[in-house]
Amino acid sequence: MSGPDDIVLRAEHVSVSYASRRPVRAVRDVSLELRRGEVLGIVGESGCGKSTLAYALTRLLRPPAELTGGTVTFCGKDGLRVELTSLAGEQLRQFRSTGMAMVFQSAMNALNPVTSIGQQFRDIFRAHDTGMDRGAMDARAGDLLEMVGIDRGRLRSFAHELSGGMRQRVIIAMALALDPEVVIMDEPTTALDVVVQQEILDEIDRLREALGFSIIFITHDLSLLLEVSDTLAVMYAGQVVEYAPTEQVAAAPAHPYTLGLLRSFPDMRGQRRELRGIPGSPPDLGERIVGCAFAARCGYVVEACRTASPVLQQLPGELRAGLPVAGWDAACHLHNLDLCPGGPPAELSGTATARPDRTPAVADGLVAGGATAGDSSGGLR
Ligand code: SF4
Repeated sequence: MSGPDDIVLRAEHVSVSYASRRPVRAVRDVSLELRRGEVLGIVGESGCGKSTLAYALTRLLRPPAELTGGTVTFCGKDGLRVELTSLAGEQLRQFRSTGMAMVFQSAMNALNPVTSIGQQFRDIFRAHDTGMDRGAMDARAGDLLEMVGIDRGRLRSFAHELSGGMRQRVIIAMALALDPEVVIMDEPTTALDVVVQQEILDEIDRLREALGFSIIFITHDLSLLLEVSDTLAVMYAGQVVEYAPTEQVAAAPAHPYTLGLLRSFPDMRGQRRELRGIPGSPPDLGERIVGCAFAARCGYVVEACRTASPVLQQLPGELRAGLPVAGWDAACHLHNLDLCPGGPPAELSGTATARPDRTPAVADGLVAGGATAGDSSGGLR
């Protein structure tokens, strides 16, 4: 278990809505903790609220998105404690990048096409009042480029002169320009081919080891997070439905949605098996959701699922699949013996292999289909 000093970022009961005639509740009561040096992976289908959550954590939400509840607290290693949800204006601007930085989705298109890379680094240093003169700015920018494996001579280049992988490295270097303690990466490798993707992941890992920052890594690609993250938060319909160390989720998923995601991509080391998708699509978050938001797609529904919303809570018992359940949370009635006296089925109880070599029956609630879970853009690496 982590002590309070290990925590660098804590989100408590964060909710975000998009204002409209029918407000869309994109993030609903999400609580997370990020430890120092940790990689926290957030995974879920497109539209599950993971990017909106990232914008809420960094206070980058723009209307019509609105933070409707919750707090986000940053705990710096120098003892600095900042309640981000209470910052505004200049204080917020100063905090950004020094405490926390973000690598945006579609980062490869985020570079300014009409100014050089060097000029864009200078803009960052000036915007955050670093006090450096031009020579110092260029020296620091060159060091940052070399840190991500790019020759410092590229400071004179424009974005169109760089490959996709180089542009992504430049964006990562820019995110690290002011030594942030937390870097939020929103789909940082999605548009890259698998070879470059692996190079970038290795680079991120090396930089994290060297510089000691923490990462929130957001993607729809669970197979990728199984490799790179220490802890996993699985999001569905704006909520976290399973939250645990990655090793534990991979060994014995407790939520039917996590199980469906795990079964939707091939196991490189196991026997060949038919891949399964998750039937249906997520609910309309502009509508009131009664009961479990996953009920319409879940093959394990019990009576309570239609009427009561499951709460994210620690799994019962002390061990599961031989692993401690402390800090292993899931939002599913199957783990509540009052509502489901028989307990969860073997594949969700930690007593059976999560990704069996046998073909799961359609009664499992998982229909034959693509390699991804509701998202056609990824899942295979
Ligand atoms: Fe399925 Fe019910 Fe669990 Fe929701 S609460 S995931 S519907 S079993």
